[in-house]
Amino acid sequence: MILEGIRLRKVNPLLEYPVAMPMVQHMDLVLREVDAAADELVDFAAALVRIPTVNPPGEAYMDCAQAIGSRLQECGFDVEYMAATGRPEHTRAHPRVNVIGRRQGRADQPLLHLNGHFDVVPPGSGWTVDPFGGIVRDGRLYGRGSADMKAGLAAAIYATEAVRRAGLDLAGTVEVSGTVDEESGGLAGVAWLAEQGRLAADRTDFVIIPEPFGVERICLGHRGVYWFDVTTYGRTAHGSMPFLGESAIESMGHVLDAVRDELAPSLLQRVTAMPVVPDGARRPTINVNGLSGGQADAVWPTPCVADRCTATFDRRFLIEEGVEAARAEALALLERVAARVPGFRYEISDRLVVHPVQTASDAPLVTALQEAVLDVTGGLAELVASPGTYDHKHVARLARVNQCVAYGPGVLEIAHQPDEWCGIDDLVRATKVIAFAIVRLIG
Ligand SMILES: [Zn+2]
Repeated sequence: MILEGIRLRKVNPLLEYPVAMPMVQHMDLVLREVDAAADELVDFAAALVRIPTVNPPGEAYMDCAQAIGSRLQECGFDVEYMAATGRPEHTRAHPRVNVIGRRQGRADQPLLHLNGHFDVVPPGSGWTVDPFGGIVRDGRLYGRGSADMKAGLAAAIYATEAVRRAGLDLAGTVEVSGTVDEESGGLAGVAWLAEQGRLAADRTDFVIIPEPFGVERICLGHRGVYWFDVTTYGRTAHGSMPFLGESAIESMGHVLDAVRDELAPSLLQRVTAMPVVPDGARRPTINVNGLSGGQADAVWPTPCVADRCTATFDRRFLIEEGVEAARAEALALLERVAARVPGFRYEISDRLVVHPVQTASDAPLVTALQEAVLDVTGGLAELVASPGTYDHKHVARLARVNQCVAYGPGVLEIAHQPDEWCGIDDLVRATKVIAFAIVRLIG
């Protein structure tokens, strides 16, 4: 493909380029710069992995924000730190500090914002390497957060840097942000930036979130989330004479049976048109995330009939369903149980709702990334949607930016697992793709 009109700033006096140069030559320059910076890129990603930004509770956020901020500064960005003051999770012990770099182009817009979260989930057990060692071995960067998503953040920064080192003078403006708390909902991170107006439809045209969907996949959005609690009630009595009481746990058993035998099979009948991966997640799903009843949490179990039992359900709904329908369906199920189980008493309450989001597959952002993937890999990018949510929800709902995708290095299934890793080759290729997308979108 040939595009014209991209100007070159001659950073190297030895280089003489025509003002309107075929895109393919620009691309060669950019490719060369990414390859030349590959060691720096990997070292930087590894350095980020070595900062244990474990969430909860939100460790070492300031250190990580500063590591990102100083690298952005070295790469010619104006850098701003934005602490989520006023948010309850922003405390002296665990400050919620976000960092944003901005590199002004010839105009304020179009503006491309690259966003990555730098918090990571706790390592958990089962590791054969140091989860925070930032170890590079056999073509892989290992560590908690390597795939999800410190490699992606490094790719975003070095993509912008390769474009700069290639001497391209961009028409539009690029921003890179490192944000907190995605793993716990993102309210002090991307949601907060949106609420402060730093991410907003009138100033931000495109958002790319380099979450680990892989070099050949572009993620358009995600399904919805409806978490609800069901509490069943009984009447306590001595555990040696249960016939004198009513067990709330037995009552919950009826609910669980109905969910398994009635609700789950009907969910299997529905399929979304969204390209959700893996295949099993093309349908709505329901999971019991937690269950607690009676006095199970006492030091010793007590000899009592349970008078209360609560289950937390995790219903993932389709864009075609909507939360109202999912809620009504849950209520109708409980009413059916109540109609056939004498004395059944229950309460249902919402815990969390996240609406589904989806960027149009023919949006210019998607097209630009598809072309960039084709340029770099020679293959056609697969358009996918995520089974779970990520910060796209805040970009769409709060900032009202309608062109947002996730695209970044790493294998989605490895995220949150022991011995998490990101392939160096993937990291370099994704950086090239993002760099190409930058040129296509705001060049
Ligand atoms: Zn992530």
